[in-house]
Amino acid sequence: MLGTIAKKLRMLGFDCTYYNTIPDDDLVLAAKKQNRIIITKDDKLATNAIQHDIITIKLQAHTEKEQLIEIAHKINWKSFDLDYSRCSLCNDMLEQVEKSTILEKIPPKIAESVEKFWQCRECSHIYWVGTHIRNLEKLIAEINAAI
Ligand SMILES: [Zn+2]
Repeated sequence: MLGTIAKKLRMLGFDCTYYNTIPDDDLVLAAKKQNRIIITKDDKLATNAIQHDIITIKLQAHTEKEQLIEIAHKINWKSFDLDYSRCSLCNDMLEQVEKSTILEKIPPKIAESVEKFWQCRECSHIYWVGTHIRNLEKLIAEINAAI
């Protein structure tokens, strides 16, 4: 499943749609129409996409980290910065919000210790630099060191 990769790419600021079940021809058509890159493990889909002049990344690796390294070789990502991230859940843009406006939506412990928050414009999901983000920063740093 490449769903977790899509979430990470969104956090890196890439506009990603993710389909779990969609006929290959519909996916290729959508990618063509929306000018998207296709990232897949599927040989048949990769061949189909390449025949339609779609930039295609055919993943060979099995672990998520190795797959992200394969992707990093082909697309240019900057260092990770929440100011440029997209919502990992819905792909919309994040914007920084004042803590006072989201106080009732965050755990009290977080409110005490964190000052900067980002919120998704679409689904209102709130982000801050906590363990999850720090782990992602660490992973991205490891990948950047490996490419
Ligand atoms: Zn969202």
